Amino acid sequence: MKKFEKVPFADLRAQYLLIKGEMDAAIESVIMDSAFIGGKHVKDFEESFAKYTKTKHAIGVGNGTDALSVSLKCLGVAAGDEVIAPANSFIATSEAVTAIGAKVVFVDCNPKSYNIDTNKLEKAITKKTKAIIPVHLYGQPADMDKLTGFAEAYNLYVIEDAAQAHGALYKGRAVGTLGYAACFSFFPGKNLGAYGDAGAVTTNNDNLAVKIKMYANHGRVDKYNHEFEGINSRLDGLQAAILNVKLRHLDSWTMKRRQIADIYNEKLKDVVITPWVMPDVTHVYHLYVIQVHGDRQKLIKHLSEHGISTGIHYPTPPPFLKAYGYLSHKPEDFPVSFGLKDKILSLPIHGDMTDEQAHYVTDVIRDFYNAG
Ligand SMILES: *Cc1c(COP(=O)(O)O)cnc(C)c1O
Repeated sequence: MKKFEKVPFADLRAQYLLIKGEMDAAIESVIMDSAFIGGKHVKDFEESFAKYTKTKHAIGVGNGTDALSVSLKCLGVAAGDEVIAPANSFIATSEAVTAIGAKVVFVDCNPKSYNIDTNKLEKAITKKTKAIIPVHLYGQPADMDKLTGFAEAYNLYVIEDAAQAHGALYKGRAVGTLGYAACFSFFPGKNLGAYGDAGAVTTNNDNLAVKIKMYANHGRVDKYNHEFEGINSRLDGLQAAILNVKLRHLDSWTMKRRQIADIYNEKLKDVVITPWVMPDVTHVYHLYVIQVHGDRQKLIKHLSEHGISTGIHYPTPPPFLKAYGYLSHKPEDFPVSFGLKDKILSLPIHGDMTDEQAHYVTDVIRDFYNAG
């Protein structure tokens, strides 16, 4: 077996070195043009990203959390309304709901897909429910047909949280087109990542696109003409130019992630629980999450002693965070999410990882189980 000193969880420095020429030129051109706020690079990226997601509009915003809250706000979701979000996600999903004054209602996840459990969805819908935010967690699209069915029956908005799923497909359709609006994060570690905070909303709705664009830019029509009060949450020129360069590589990085996942699947399926993938979806493996048998802490230590970094996504599902203590949730409210939190483990996966590194990771894990 080939050994490695280190297998990092992600390696943004290595990625930069591979595209350094293009990237440095793009950054320099923003500075030479002084196109820091708005301008050509932002427009170019918005157009390219709309094309990539096959939507009519992509609107750059400051980050993925704002993409969600701005979408909710511009759809008129407000205090007194309820919004459904999955019990296992990053806090940003539910935070965006609270940020605009609405109440978050959590729904447990499916034990196989880890996405929102559409069998438990209808019970959570009340007269106050205005929207559902499915998260395409770890890069796998949520069960959208069923979810959209409930949304239509109860007249609810569907806003996709696609922060982890750039380029994922659901029955051949790109995430970002599956709801009324979709929210992307370009946090540096995401599949498409900026060199700082950045985000975008995609939508096919013309009115919503205009409203979001204005709201995220001080409610502005032009420089000092403000139709309403908004906020300042813009995608900046440097991040847009950086994203323009990276978007050209995204599909090849995604393909690499999927190859790494294939190696993991094949070599780990008899020692741990490997990811289950819904039929007819393309998973983009933002994270490769296994369920560990036995002592997770020991496995993490064993991997770390062999130079392999891991992560847990997420150690505490949002309903059980102190931040949501006011909701007084108990483990039995979300038994699946609660049960998974001590078993899940995320293995290294990224667009610059080699097959040899993936084989090494699987060998180290197999050793652990064979010795134990
Ligand atoms: C990263 C992430 C966000 C928020 O993105 P930021 O750009 O960091 O604000 C939202 N939802 C999910 C599921 C995420 O993983």
